[in-house]
Amino acid sequence: MVTCLIGLGSNQGDRVGNLLAAIAALGEDPAISLQAVSSFVESAPVGGPAGQPNFFNGAAILATSLPAEALLTRLLDIELQLGRVRGERFGPRTIDLDLLLYGEQVIESPTLQVPHPRLRVRRFVLAPAAEIAGEMLVPALTDAEQRVSIETLCARLPDPAPSELGLRVIMSAAAMQRHVREIQLSGRRVGVVPTMGALHSGHLSLVQEARRRSDYVVATIFVNPTQFAPHEDFTKYPRTLDADLSALSAAGCQAAFVPSAEEMYPRGATTTVDPPEVALPLEGVCRPGHFRGVATIVLKLFHLIPAEVACFGQKDFQQALVIRRMVADLNVPIEVVVCPTVREADGLALSSRNRYLSAAERERALALSRALRQAEQSIQAGETESNRIVSAMRETLAAAGITSIDYVALADPETLAECSRVEGKTVALIACRVGSTRLIDNCLLDPTIDAGSAKRGAVRA
Ligand code: AMP
Repeated sequence: MVTCLIGLGSNQGDRVGNLLAAIAALGEDPAISLQAVSSFVESAPVGGPAGQPNFFNGAAILATSLPAEALLTRLLDIELQLGRVRGERFGPRTIDLDLLLYGEQVIESPTLQVPHPRLRVRRFVLAPAAEIAGEMLVPALTDAEQRVSIETLCARLPDPAPSELGLRVIMSAAAMQRHVREIQLSGRRVGVVPTMGALHSGHLSLVQEARRRSDYVVATIFVNPTQFAPHEDFTKYPRTLDADLSALSAAGCQAAFVPSAEEMYPRGATTTVDPPEVALPLEGVCRPGHFRGVATIVLKLFHLIPAEVACFGQKDFQQALVIRRMVADLNVPIEVVVCPTVREADGLALSSRNRYLSAAERERALALSRALRQAEQSIQAGETESNRIVSAMRETLAAAGITSIDYVALADPETLAECSRVEGKTVALIACRVGSTRLIDNCLLDPTIDAGSAKRGAVRA
């Protein structure tokens, strides 16, 4: 068996998906034993036509019984299988697989040059390779050269310009933990933004807040199966990874943690977090087990990414309370920041699930923010009876044709205990179905603040 280093790149289609598909294809080959896969780093294209998307590049170490030429043929087969069309040099490509090292052999044939001729100078090749193959030795190509490790070659590159450092996409839990440790050892504060992907400006506002509060932002994208009940929308939850990564990169996020379900829940994992009491009402009643799944995954993410600060959205009001309480109860050394809900101009709270709504349903969904605004206005007009406020909110929903209502509640914003009178700070919360799409929204109310200054927590339309 010969130990080889492979370089992978993609800048067309679902870029990270293409890299993962190529790795899966390598893993399925009986003559190949996959040993390690790096994170993927984003880089601007070198040469080729203007306006190409950025690349994601990675590296893999494999052991193989195949001779070098046969391995190269296998790599070309996988490229074709994944839809690579060979065209212009440096043109866009769905997948590019390069044989960088074949043991310590030097091969100079018309079809194959190993070590890869540009291996020594390219950060987008060396940086991911160094992560998994630091010790591997690169044989000298000329008498003047020396045999050096990948790590040494990488360290020899000049310091990268900030524009050269694109998003880093990390799939492995161990690599994620290692990476955060390195960032923190270099004196930087880390911020984390947990998400389930299908990102919108609400998520990106959390990235912005995390940027303000830290030096290095890691967003996580993981559709967590354990927080969905069997009849819920786990399998059809929107997954838009390539667009998400572009958006995170443009928002100045430095790393995305995108683990598989197997990575987060290895076989036999049965330990869970018993969520705090604040998880019991409202969503806790409608979605039994949901907050156990949320608390468990968020605590796991906090262990893998022991950031200084974590940003969550007020949009998921009860979730934010559950996490704040869990962090306090379990002494997790992380500051939890809750950021305001981002809304469309007409008041609809942004949600990944909004894309399920038809045009007519979207129009009906405006009743949620309208009902919250009405509650706010009636409180400002002096109404204090929760029953009357809740009835009016229900009527607003019903008038829009929303009849499947899980709850409309006025509650204490710390404990979520329902209140019969609105006398101090209160949260109004709604969960209902518009068509088959379940939507939630909420608004903080404070009868002690006059109408003019009450706008801070308000629903605007
Ligand atoms: P999700 O991907 O739905 O799990 O949401 C990830 C994070 O984004 C959670 O902390 C949410 O509360 C937050 N979030 C979702 N929608 C919004 C929004 N419209 N405005 C602000 N934050 C949001």
